[in-house]
Amino acid sequence: MPDSERPAPSADLPPPAGAELTVDTGRIVANWRTVAATAGVPAAAVVKADGYGLGAAPVAAALAAAGCRLFFVATLGEAVALRQSLPGPEIAVLGGLVAGAEPHLLAHRLTPVLNQRAEFARWRDAGDGRPAILHVDTGLNRLGLPMAELDAAAEAGLAWRAVISHMVAAEDPAHPMNATQLMRFRAVTARLPGVPASLAASSGSFLGPDYAFDFVRPGAALYGVNPQPGRPNPLLCPLRLDARILQVRELAAGDSVGYGATFVARRPSRIATIPVGYADGFLRAGSSRAVLYLSGHPVPVVGRVSMDLITLDVTDLPPGLAVPGAAVEILGPARPPDQAGPELGSMAYEVLTSLGRRFPRRYRELA
Ligand SMILES: *Cc1c(COP(=O)(O)O)cnc(C)c1O
Repeated sequence: MPDSERPAPSADLPPPAGAELTVDTGRIVANWRTVAATAGVPAAAVVKADGYGLGAAPVAAALAAAGCRLFFVATLGEAVALRQSLPGPEIAVLGGLVAGAEPHLLAHRLTPVLNQRAEFARWRDAGDGRPAILHVDTGLNRLGLPMAELDAAAEAGLAWRAVISHMVAAEDPAHPMNATQLMRFRAVTARLPGVPASLAASSGSFLGPDYAFDFVRPGAALYGVNPQPGRPNPLLCPLRLDARILQVRELAAGDSVGYGATFVARRPSRIATIPVGYADGFLRAGSSRAVLYLSGHPVPVVGRVSMDLITLDVTDLPPGLAVPGAAVEILGPARPPDQAGPELGSMAYEVLTSLGRRFPRRYRELA
C-alpha cells in the first residue's frame, strides 16, 4: 500500500504492545501537600529535568491548579519551555544569570536565581526592576554567593524576591552539616530582613520546624522519593512503568542469554524478553542483578541489559503467567525508584531523570 493510502495512527488507538509510563499527577499533588503540611509552610515545586523525568508541563499544571505559585527549573531553556504551558505562576531559574539571558528572562517573565556578585549589577541594569532570588552557599560549595560576600547582596540595590540556600546532607538527620548550615542560614536571613527565606528541599522539609523558614523547595519528594532513606516513606509513588513480554524462550541447561553470554542457565529455563533497555533508562548496571515483578511474582533480570531489550528468568512462575503480552512492572508502587536505584548501581533521582522518551506516557490515576 502506498504511504498516502496508509491510515494515520490515531491517538485513540491503544499503543502497540510495548512499554508504557503512567504518571498520576494527583499523587504528585498529594505529595506536595504532604511536604507543605510536614514543614508547616508553603511549598514551591522543583520541576527541573522535565519534572524529574515525569513531564514538567503536566506536573506543573496539576500543581498550579492545586495552588502552587512558584516553580523552579535549572536552565533558561527549561523555563522558556515551561512558560508556554504555565502562563501565570512565577518560574525561577536556578542556574543563574548566564550571559545573554536577560532579554529572554524579561520576555517570558522569568525570575533569575542570582548566584554571584557579577550577576547583581547585570540584573540591576537589565532587569527592568523585576525581582531576583538570591542563592547563598552555606556549605555545598557548588553554586551560590559565598557567605563572606553577603554584604554585597544586602547593598546590591535589588528587590530580592527571596533568599535560598541548599543543603549538603539533609537526608541524614544526624549529619552535623545540617546544624552548621542552619546556623549560617540564620545569619543570612538576619542580614536580609524581610526577604522570604528558604533552606529546605525535599529532605530538609522533614527535619523539623527550624529548617522550614518561609517556604520549602521540594523536588524529589513530589515524585515519591523517600526524603529519609531507611525510614518509612510518607509519600506516594506517582508512576508506573510497565512493559509487555514480547517473546518467551525455552532454554536447556548450559544455554547462555544475551551479549557476552554472561548468564548461563544451570537448569532448563524459561526466559521472557521485554522491550525496555538502557536507551529507555534501564541502566546497564542492572544486568543479572535487578528484580522486576510480574503479577506480584519476582522475575530476575538475567544476562546483559541491551539497548532495547532485557531478559527475565520466568522459570519459577506459575504456568500461563509469563506469556507474550503479559505486563511486567519495571517501576511502580511494588518497585519504587528508591528500590530500583541501588539495583541499577544508582539512586532514585537518577532512575527518574533517566526515564526514556520513546514509550508512550499516560497521565491518569493509578489504581
Ligand atoms: C534540585 C534542587 C532542589 C530540589 O531538591 P530535591 O532534593 O529534589 O528536593 C531544591 N533547591 C535547589 C537549589 C536545587 O538545585
